[in-house]
Amino acid sequence: MTVSLERPVRPLPTWLVSTRHGTRIYTHGAYADWRPFGVQHARQVGSNRTACGIAALDWELFWDLAFPSEASVTCQGCLHVVTGRDRGTSTGLRAS
Ligand SMILES: [Zn+2]
Repeated sequence: MTVSLERPVRPLPTWLVSTRHGTRIYTHGAYADWRPFGVQHARQVGSNRTACGIAALDWELFWDLAFPSEASVTCQGCLHVVTGRDRGTSTGLRAS
């Protein structure tokens, strides 16, 4: 019997979550992974701009998060470019 140690290769999503800053989320004294902080934009690997056109060369790029994620703070410009639709939130501020 042959056992393969290779893991299946998942292709990268076309659009990844990119934010100006990242943060660690501490839970019970231990920290989780580096996570997005603030408005989430969409960016492609190798691009220095977000889908909405902001220069993002030194921004965080989250390789494990496809855009749009389940975040409540999503850039409407990027969402429109990536999906062609709006989700009802803008730059993180909700109308009340
Ligand atoms: Zn954007």
